[in-house]
Amino acid sequence: MTGAGRDGRRGPLVAIDGPAGSGKTTVSRALAARLAVDRLDTGAMYRAVTWLALAHKVDLADGAALGRLARDGHFEIGERVVADGTDITAAIRSPDVSAGVSVVAAHPEVRSALVERQRRWVEDRGGAVVEGRDIGSVVLPDADVKVYLDATPEERARRRSDEQADGLARRDALDRSRAASPLTVAEGARVVDTTGRTVDDIVEEIVGWLTTSA
Ligand code: C5P
Repeated sequence: MTGAGRDGRRGPLVAIDGPAGSGKTTVSRALAARLAVDRLDTGAMYRAVTWLALAHKVDLADGAALGRLARDGHFEIGERVVADGTDITAAIRSPDVSAGVSVVAAHPEVRSALVERQRRWVEDRGGAVVEGRDIGSVVLPDADVKVYLDATPEERARRRSDEQADGLARRDALDRSRAASPLTVAEGARVVDTTGRTVDDIVEEIVGWLTTSA
């Protein structure tokens, strides 16, 4: 499974996109473990920038200031999320951050800064599973396999029971309608409805696609 037929790469590269509650995090975690590669949750990066903006009282309408925060801000995304030396793993899931993140993520200045950080992260590793909203369409259009996960609205709301259903719907609507890199099915992406399916089943299906694409 190494190499995947790409220049000097050490492992497979998988892009996973989809709306909130579609199963991205669960599937990408299990897939990364199965493939023995790292996983990057790009949503956590947008959340970390939003947390920093709220902490530093940056106006969420100020794209230039938010872009600087996204480019120069001190934050690390791994199993724990750390910003300015503080563990913000739980804080980035707070209602305040969830309510603001799609506004922050709509600014082109924020997106270009984070896309650059994301590509650097991938280059440092070779293979990886990267999840988000624009991974297959913008960040890694040459990924070995691009997957777009979806699920019924009821199932998505159930999975994201930590977030009010109307807040979730507003966030999804903003993510789909923004001008800069909206959530969309990337060209060549495989669409998977995760409703009622097991994680193992979905992971094996994706591994099968990787094998045929190698
Ligand atoms: O994945 P998660 O639901 O934590 O993402 C939080 C928000 O970050 C999304 O609603 C979206 O506004 C933004 N996001 C994005 N592009 C990505 C990942 C997340 O715009 N690649």
